[in-house]
Amino acid sequence: MARTAIYAGSFDPVTNGHVDIITRGARLFDRLVVAVGNNPTKKYLFDLETRTQMIAEACTEVPNLEVVPFRGLLVDAARKYDADVVLRGLRALSDFDLEFRNGLANRALSGIETFFLLADPSLIYVSSSLVREIAMYGGDVSGFVPGPVAEAVRRLYPAAPPG
Ligand code: ADP
Repeated sequence: MARTAIYAGSFDPVTNGHVDIITRGARLFDRLVVAVGNNPTKKYLFDLETRTQMIAEACTEVPNLEVVPFRGLLVDAARKYDADVVLRGLRALSDFDLEFRNGLANRALSGIETFFLLADPSLIYVSSSLVREIAMYGGDVSGFVPGPVAEAVRRLYPAAPPG
């Protein structure tokens, strides 16, 4: 039976940590749907189209990938895209509590299982919010995100003046 996993997030912007989970996750399932958050009440640094494009561009080597927009409940998106499993990345203890509760809530809502991949130790501290914060002050984010994302960030926030 073909297995589909759904991996949801804001991806604002996509980081090397996300790309690692996508790459490793896609090897474990027949099809991986990456659901890009598009919540009208949330303010994003990059619009939906840009965030979607950045993921597709960073993951051209992943053949069984679909990148789709997502709003509302994850269990509804899972149903819409025929996903059997929710894929999540686990960075540290701090991720665990929320992920555990969300996973249980999703299972209570629809019976869907959650599949956790442990973060790569070298990427454990990487997050979109860290990238946005460094970028805002003109810092170099090229170690944390794919090349084209670092370029887009640089265009948005030119380098900080020395001193
Ligand atoms: P949101 O932007 O909606 O807060 P995140 O981008 O934080 O969502 O996370 C989406 C998923 O990616 C979560 O499962 C999260 O644990 C995982 N993730 C985020 N950063 C990393 C990383 N550096 N390594 C592994 N998984 C990660």
